[in-house]
Amino acid sequence: MADRLLDAQSLVKTYGALRASDNFSIALRRGELHALIGPNGAGKTTALNQLCGEQLPDSGRIVFDGRTVTRMPIHRRARLGLARSYQITSVFESLTVRQNFSLAIQAHNGHSFRFWRKAADDPLIRRSVAPAMDRVGLTERADLPAASLSHGEKRQLEVGMALAGHPKLLLLDEPYAGMGPGGAVELTKLIRTLKKEVTILLVEHDMAAVFALADRITVLVYGRAIASGTPEEIRENPDVRQAYLGES
Ligand code: ATP
Repeated sequence: MADRLLDAQSLVKTYGALRASDNFSIALRRGELHALIGPNGAGKTTALNQLCGEQLPDSGRIVFDGRTVTRMPIHRRARLGLARSYQITSVFESLTVRQNFSLAIQAHNGHSFRFWRKAADDPLIRRSVAPAMDRVGLTERADLPAASLSHGEKRQLEVGMALAGHPKLLLLDEPYAGMGPGGAVELTKLIRTLKKEVTILLVEHDMAAVFALADRITVLVYGRAIASGTPEEIRENPDVRQAYLGES
């Protein structure tokens, strides 16, 4: 269907006898913020890994923006507009915020990291860095090393770097993990802004954030999607309440 940006069908991923994805299916509509939730070990990260190409499914099919990408390598999916930010922050601590953005923009433009210092002088790249920093509210931090940023600011930087290539789909893996209340409020504001311009798949344990942000939610239990719907539908779903939200 044309309104679907991503359609993953019947993904299976096994580790020995364990089925981390057990016929997992999910459909993302263009423009939505879709949350993927589930208990620890349910297979959320395994699912994200297959969607972005970090791991290949044993079987199943993934269609992104009208193209089958099931076995396509991660960098080619990135070029089609599929970006991922990681559970563990992946910024370059010793480089400044500006340099981190410069690197991300060069990487999206296909430069190799060996030449990044030279490419940092490229006027086109320099011109792209300012709006990219501004987009995630880090302009005032431009010349500070990433190591000196707060945890929340590092998340902003990481999201900003993932956005530098103007992706169509942003996969966010537990952005609220380890964040204090102040940082969480800032992050919610940032994600609210981002959701106006990019489709987002959010994997998150923080249910307050999920229910505040999501247009739709898919619930994963033992590698299977047991329900998919609006936050209200998910809250009322008896299977979800029993299996995940802790009611019997
Ligand atoms: P969490 O919420 O704790 O991050 P998750 O829902 O992201 O968990 P996964 O990390 O995808 O779950 O793990 C799903 C299952 O697969 C778990 O039982 C995990 O122990 C197992 N698993 C994940 N990676 C591997 C691996 N490389 N080798 C073996 N088992 C693995």
